[in-house]
Amino acid sequence: MNNLPITVCNPLRRTPLALIVDDSCPVINLTYYWITQRQAWLARHPSNAAPRASDGDPAKLDRVPQTIPAAFVQKWGEWCAEQGIRGKFSMVPYPAGIGRVDQGFPEFPQQEYDQWMQVMRDVIWPNFDITCEMLTHTHVVDLETWQFTEAWEQYEWVNPPVEPLTDYIATAMTILKAAGFPCEGVTSPGAFGSQQESAYAQATLTAAQRVNGNPRPFYFLHVNVAPDEWPDVPIWHADKEKGIAIASIIGCTNDWFGNWTGYDAGDPDLMITEDLQGGCLPPVLARELPCVLVSHWPGFYFGGEEVGFEVLKEVKRRLDAYDPDASKTRWMKTSAIGHYWMARTLSDITTTPGENGAWQVQISTRFPTSDFTLAAPMSCTSVQVNGQVLRQVYAQHDFQTGTFLVEGEQTVLAFDLDEGETVIQLLP
Ligand SMILES: [Zn+2]
Repeated sequence: MNNLPITVCNPLRRTPLALIVDDSCPVINLTYYWITQRQAWLARHPSNAAPRASDGDPAKLDRVPQTIPAAFVQKWGEWCAEQGIRGKFSMVPYPAGIGRVDQGFPEFPQQEYDQWMQVMRDVIWPNFDITCEMLTHTHVVDLETWQFTEAWEQYEWVNPPVEPLTDYIATAMTILKAAGFPCEGVTSPGAFGSQQESAYAQATLTAAQRVNGNPRPFYFLHVNVAPDEWPDVPIWHADKEKGIAIASIIGCTNDWFGNWTGYDAGDPDLMITEDLQGGCLPPVLARELPCVLVSHWPGFYFGGEEVGFEVLKEVKRRLDAYDPDASKTRWMKTSAIGHYWMARTLSDITTTPGENGAWQVQISTRFPTSDFTLAAPMSCTSVQVNGQVLRQVYAQHDFQTGTFLVEGEQTVLAFDLDEGETVIQLLP
């Protein structure tokens, strides 16, 4: 044998879990402004078209408060931190044009803004990537005048003009950076960009490099709950030599927490039933590909009733019951999922036989990641990565980065993959 077939496994051989939170921003409740601005626009543009569900129901506006308190994001964020939940949390940079997150919201108490920003920094950001969700999540803004246009980010800009797209996304990122958050990627408001996906992915990648010096961002655009069509993590515009690429993070649930409206109650059974057999998550978990739950911030608060938050608590309890010793699943930030899939698909792995059944594995990559996990078809007594001896463990639940585990004629090993060359020694 002159080649040892090496397999790249899931990170630490666990299925990635992530919670996507959309429509979040400090102080204001985006849904309130979305519905009121849509109604004003519809009054200016009368038509016979049937009302769209995504416009919201103005008759229910009394159930949608204008603000979501900082005390709630603190409670929610601290609970997620304690539970080990990770994922992505949007921060719409200029939400509904009411205020910029780097300047504050003059119509609301300063103290709410200050506390919100502190919680974002200290509680949310350690566990969730921050993304812009384009600029306003309502009207498209004319960047020369900073006035609203009559176009909408999530309607007309489903098919955005390609030429100003990079500047538009870069402007959104610049506001977050000025607020202290060099964001890890972007979230599409609605289907923003979906009819120009390649150009949109390229614009996001260029903007991330320009504003934040980030060569490996991600975007969240697609939700796909159709089992036959589940992809894993598509990587776009990869430049292997330069270490540049962008990942598309794909959700596998609809929002069954409290929806974007914050008045449509969800149901944990749609995600995973009490007996852990039903709902859309068990087949995704069985497939062992990223299991990305989709939610919206106003739905957790639910006008103060916290319905979506209660659904999240129950779903988490059931996911813990599915994996009581945390050996099968692992909560990850979405950027970490993107980086892992880049490393997995864009690294060169070669092997060289040594003496007495030993093997050397060489990895060359411009795509670093944590917890890189390989399986080799041999039983090892010793594993070294760049001269560092890995510690042997004897059960999957103890398998962490810097360790290896032998199972019959297979050895799995995990380490943080650095950019450049990595040399692994496998001794039988
Ligand atoms: Zn949204």
